[in-house]
Amino acid sequence: MNKKKTLFTALFLAVFNLSFFAQQNFEKDTIPTSIGDLTITFIGHGTLLFELNDKVIHIDPCMREADYNQMPKADLILITHEHGDHLDSTAIGHILKKNTKIVLTSVCAKRVPHLKKAKIMQNGDTKKLLGITIKAIPAYNLVHKRKNGEPFHPKGHGNGYVLTIGQTRILIAADTENIPEIKALKNIDIAFLPMNLPYTMTPEMLADAAKAFQPKVLYPYHYGKTNTQELIELLKNEKSIDLRIRQMQ
Ligand code: ZN
Ligand code: ZN
Repeated sequence: MNKKKTLFTALFLAVFNLSFFAQQNFEKDTIPTSIGDLTITFIGHGTLLFELNDKVIHIDPCMREADYNQMPKADLILITHEHGDHLDSTAIGHILKKNTKIVLTSVCAKRVPHLKKAKIMQNGDTKKLLGITIKAIPAYNLVHKRKNGEPFHPKGHGNGYVLTIGQTRILIAADTENIPEIKALKNIDIAFLPMNLPYTMTPEMLADAAKAFQPKVLYPYHYGKTNTQELIELLKNEKSIDLRIRQMQ
């Protein structure tokens, strides 16, 4: 083997190993459901990957969190709202295949008009895709606002999603606060609630929401630099909530 070829091979192996390592490095949890095991991969911030049997569901895929060129192609992509840490057309482009279904908001649809097959869901809408019932719920700020008085997330712009997979109900709350629509939810098995300031919830707001709707498993996500220990302290007497901290800064 000549020198150039050896160097090329070494470089190729290094890059391959790096990307392979990156893929392997994400934390995963497996949740049994009545229709098969759901594997949750914690990509980072507000970005998640769900695998159910042979189906791949990406939630807010974002290049800031992972190289989507290396990620499995999507059967379903759920986008919660139009902010850059949630709607990333480059990441979406990498994981599209012929039959990929995309769900997004009307504000997102205006930002990515080339994604013609994307289905718009408004707050309150329900759809069934891949055998999963998807309900869009509101996601908005009550307290935290921009300097001009506009909430960071105005009501009606963004969607949280409640997915029903077999008998298992999963809340992906998106960028929101402890709004009454979340506090009134019933029978949530797994909840993802955001906890970074000033855009979403304080640990106190998150604990208030979780105490109200009592998810069986609670994952704080989208938590940036917020100290998760504060949330652990606030929920230490909630014995029926299984609080799980994953790498979701
Ligand atoms: Zn946002
Ligand atoms: Zn966000």
